[in-house]
Amino acid sequence: MLSPASLAEWTRAAGLLDETPEFTARDLAEAVEVREAVYRTVWARLEDRPPTEADVDLLNAHATRPRLVPTLLPDGSTRREGTLSGLLATLAADLLDLLGDPDFGRIKRCANTDCTRLYIDSSRGGNRQWCGMSECGNRAKVKAFRRRHREPH
Ligand SMILES: [Zn+2]
Repeated sequence: MLSPASLAEWTRAAGLLDETPEFTARDLAEAVEVREAVYRTVWARLEDRPPTEADVDLLNAHATRPRLVPTLLPDGSTRREGTLSGLLATLAADLLDLLGDPDFGRIKRCANTDCTRLYIDSSRGGNRQWCGMSECGNRAKVKAFRRRHREPH
């Protein structure tokens, strides 16, 4: 179940913020709205369809707002802090950069049909099939192994 705490956890894990503000349920709803627009827009591109008008408006609106910026501290280290607005602006602007990037062709859908994740295939041969080996990749291998070794009845 998604909660404002999971949004905070994700922003730290994704390396977007070092210190997260106290997110509210409304912040979470807004973040999910942007996440879904990002997802639909990438999906549309993968299927050679234009994005929806509503997603274009939403993503452009966020992308024009001030983004997260790192701060240099007196000891020479840096710290990333910011607001939800800055976070969503960064996500939207990063997506627009990605859509214009020749590397967009490396964006793939996970081969596991139960999984809805998209990922960037950074393998040298460009032949990665799963979002992650530890999750879908291993599950697919175990399934294939069981299929090969199933005893006939
Ligand atoms: Zn997957």
